[in-house]
Amino acid sequence: MSSYIWCHGPSCHTNHTQDRIRGVKGSKVLRTRKVAQTQYNSGDSSHMHMYSFFCSNGCYNDFANKHIERVIAIAPRTEALETPINVTKEQRQYGWRDGTYTETVINRVDNNGG
Ligand SMILES: [Zn+2]
Repeated sequence: MSSYIWCHGPSCHTNHTQDRIRGVKGSKVLRTRKVAQTQYNSGDSSHMHMYSFFCSNGCYNDFANKHIERVIAIAPRTEALETPINVTKEQRQYGWRDGTYTETVINRVDNNGG
């Protein structure tokens, strides 16, 4: 297993940062960043996440936006999901003795008999 992969951000190599500069005077380039594969950003195969493949949130967003139709095709949402809840009103107190206000409290309903 290699110790790094290239960032998958489609525009990673166009960002103007010192750490991307490679080459000698007269033929310098901005190069795609390497993403080190450490236990902290890749973990084992059941815990891989975006930081295994992207150097930043920006590169992740660029990738998702460029390929959004295919990304959505992985798990299309064709109808709304719902979470059963209980809604109650509770009186709360401001500070020590500054009066009360009503807070709306939302709790998930446990459908598993709990
Ligand atoms: Zn990147």
